[in-house]
Amino acid sequence: MNLHKFATPAGTGLAGYGPTSPLQRFLEQRHEEFRSDSSGQVASYIPELTRANPKHFGAAFGTIDGHVYEVGDSAAPFTIQSVSKAFVFALALETLGDERVEQAIGVEPSGEAFNSIRLTADNRPFNPMVNAGAIACSGLIRRVEGDGAFERIRTILGQFAGRELDVDEAVYASESRTGDRNRAIAWLLRNYSVIEGDVDAVLDVYFRQCAILVTARDLAVMAATLANRGVNPTTGVRVVSPHAVGRTLSIMMSSGMYDYAGEWTYRVGIPAKSGVGGGIAAVLPAQLGVGTFSPLLDSHGNSVRGMKMCEALSSRFDLHMLNRSGDVRSCVIADYEAARVASRRNRAPHERAILDERRSDMRVLELVGALTFGSIDYVARRLGEAPPRAALLILGLHRVPDVTEAGRRLLADYLDRLGEDGVTVVIAGVAADAPLWRALRDNSPKARLRRFDLLDEAVEWAEDQLVYRYGGFSVAATAELAAQPLLAGLGAKDIAALERLSSVRRYEAGAKIVSAGDEADSLFFLQSGMASVKLPSGVRLATFGPGDGFGEMAMLEGRRSADVFADVASICRELPLDALGALGDRAQVMLMRNLAALLAQRLILANAKVELLTGN
Ligand code: GLU
Repeated sequence: MNLHKFATPAGTGLAGYGPTSPLQRFLEQRHEEFRSDSSGQVASYIPELTRANPKHFGAAFGTIDGHVYEVGDSAAPFTIQSVSKAFVFALALETLGDERVEQAIGVEPSGEAFNSIRLTADNRPFNPMVNAGAIACSGLIRRVEGDGAFERIRTILGQFAGRELDVDEAVYASESRTGDRNRAIAWLLRNYSVIEGDVDAVLDVYFRQCAILVTARDLAVMAATLANRGVNPTTGVRVVSPHAVGRTLSIMMSSGMYDYAGEWTYRVGIPAKSGVGGGIAAVLPAQLGVGTFSPLLDSHGNSVRGMKMCEALSSRFDLHMLNRSGDVRSCVIADYEAARVASRRNRAPHERAILDERRSDMRVLELVGALTFGSIDYVARRLGEAPPRAALLILGLHRVPDVTEAGRRLLADYLDRLGEDGVTVVIAGVAADAPLWRALRDNSPKARLRRFDLLDEAVEWAEDQLVYRYGGFSVAATAELAAQPLLAGLGAKDIAALERLSSVRRYEAGAKIVSAGDEADSLFFLQSGMASVKLPSGVRLATFGPGDGFGEMAMLEGRRSADVFADVASICRELPLDALGALGDRAQVMLMRNLAALLAQRLILANAKVELLTGN
């Protein structure tokens, strides 16, 4: 929907809606509320961090379509510290694979302080969010990248943030000078071969990584990249795989907030990682990334105001990750049988009779929205309740932007089962190179699948199958003028006269028979071949076969409203409108009646479609 359409002239309309979006207002109001809270202390164990300005408070939300809401000191730089651990862990998984990373580092919450020197019973760090695990992670990157390890980390963190990131040399030097505890941890890890080679070089990578400068906005975009399954929504760059994202978020959920992690998951329920520089990055998968900065820390080392912002977001909008809901039934927007809505292919009366009789042999389900495991299960059950009597199931997916991996797997299994039952499934509205189509085709070996770009093409194809199966194609169509519905009831003499006044025209495949905008001064009757009416945009309005007439709107309108193309080599009889003037009054009235009947038929069909698609 285009919001601008609703703008009122006085400038009070929705056109100026952006700056007052509800999320921006929420951010501003909570910022105003929490900035006066000056509880907590700035970190002091890295001497340089004591210089932080306790008044600083910035926050930002990054959406997965690349918009960033910001408030306060969202552009103020600070050192990323432990927030880097989550992103470097993702990089390690991506670079070395799960197995090598998990051999070196555990995934259990430690129940100990972040800088604890204790290891697990098998002498590994508890998880990658405590210092031991993070130093081990930096060591793993160094094993692969050697002296280029830090640059690799800086580059990847920059890709997460969507810009190049620098290092705060003073903070780096300060921690490097005083970080003996981390040094002790690193040597212990070396003792157990979790770290190999030059311990000081590994520590240097770790200290530098912690001293990378970011802003609250950067953290929001970095978090949004995780929310967006590893693709930075502001740059479109894939930084890590969805698999690494899932693993990383799991660890953030269980161990991201120091000794408050369990409490955080219980109360807030949003995977997050904080750092002693005052930053928090929180991730709402498939929705939002949150970045906050305020250097006043509570006794656990978490930023007081940052936590408040995340807590407020979670409670105000009920965003706890484990408290989700959804109505799977809303994914079906239309569900109908063959006869209710025909394709745009004009059907001869005997074909229509077949489609009418075999109506329950073909079922069309139009789906909408992102499909999930739950919605696919619902669709399968809904179809199971009233199975198509035979044979043709059309799934219209043109309004489906995405199917979750779980949904895709369940759908693939279901398509196999339908294949075994002899049902052909026609997937419509999905491009040939779309990942969804490839996944279904490759993972449903027993399915009987067809695919069309457009729903209308799919319906036409399925109708053809029914017409063919029930002998409809063996009945020869007639192109006699006398058999034209438009000329029904005219006497033999009149028909003969019209025949004389008309001319036979031949068209190559693809030739244009009628152009939109041209003077509408004749009627056409297709004798052989096939022709389609199309809008300039390429949208097909109707397709005609032998025996059909078209261009009859010329009797009502001065100019052609659409193009008509020959789909294959075709022969038409063209009758100039002038010729109709030669008919007597009675015949002319008859002609107008026939025209009205044809239009009424079309209107009835259009109304049925409107009813079906709007539900009223
Ligand atoms: N560089 C800090 C350290 O290793 C990071 C601590 C943190 O942010 O939790 O002690």
